[in-house]
Amino acid sequence: MRGDIIKIPEMIYYILMAAASLSIVIFSGCGKTAAYDESIVSSEVNVQNMDKDNSAVTNNKKVMSDQLNMREVNLKTEPEGFELSKTDIRLRVGKQAVIRARLPEGIDRKQIVFISDNISTAEIVQSGETALIKAVGEGTAVITARLNNGAEQKCTVVVTDKPVVEVIDGVTYMDGILIVNKSYALPESFGKGLNKTAEKAFYEMAEDAEKENISLRIVSGFRSYKKQSELYEGYCNERGQEKADTFSARPGHSEHQTGLAMDVNSVYDSFAYTREAKWLAENCHRYGFIIRYPEGKEDITGYKYESWHIRYVGKELAEKLTAKNLTLEEYFGIDSKYSD
Ligand SMILES: [Zn+2]
Repeated sequence: MRGDIIKIPEMIYYILMAAASLSIVIFSGCGKTAAYDESIVSSEVNVQNMDKDNSAVTNNKKVMSDQLNMREVNLKTEPEGFELSKTDIRLRVGKQAVIRARLPEGIDRKQIVFISDNISTAEIVQSGETALIKAVGEGTAVITARLNNGAEQKCTVVVTDKPVVEVIDGVTYMDGILIVNKSYALPESFGKGLNKTAEKAFYEMAEDAEKENISLRIVSGFRSYKKQSELYEGYCNERGQEKADTFSARPGHSEHQTGLAMDVNSVYDSFAYTREAKWLAENCHRYGFIIRYPEGKEDITGYKYESWHIRYVGKELAEKLTAKNLTLEEYFGIDSKYSD
């Protein structure tokens, strides 16, 4: 019951305080130089009086600049907004990955450092706003990104010695290379045209070929699932499914749907005997391409030899596959067979 006794004096106190505050507001609103305690008057009151009272404007500016200063201090002490582009990476031994730190504005990128807790698995090749991570040996490492204010973010790196297989939205990637053959399909909705990097690489190659009087052009690039369905169905009607399967992919299984494959100049077997085909076979790896269905590997790739069909895999892998005379199937140790 003690609370009830205190209530009345408390109410009187609050009423008096409210009246005092109000008189200050009115006083400052009248344009007089107010000798009030700044801490009592809120910044909202100052905003209302900005046009009427110069001293209030000055005061308001001070409050605003105080707020700005506080915001700056907050950015420097709170890890909010600091995040990493990746928190989970799977890598094959010898491969590298990039982790980007998304720093809040006003933070110097020199203030961030990346640290690996297991350098025999993953080491930091380059640190900064963008870190380059190299997979050294099998195992797991935790990469910590640390700002000099103490804020931290982590990324787990799992390193294996086998191809890293990832299925993202129904698409299979091995060591980051998109895989499509008779065993691996693409979803119907996948693909929106030629891949820009592959396309650029092609035209760079064509330009260099031109200097040697070799003319290369794309006769078939991207093909949608629907387009492939029509083509495949046509071939089946014409020549029967068994035959069609040796040279035409079923919908979802065509490399052309990846936007990374192109048919160059001609799709007839006679192309193999041209100067252009010879040049293509000898040089395309330098631009990141491979002859995807080589001669003598029909049982491995699942397709007959196509001297005109090139697939973009990037320079590094293209050089490796060409030097060792390997198909993607052999390199990744996979099949190319329809399940039915
Ligand atoms: Zn093709």
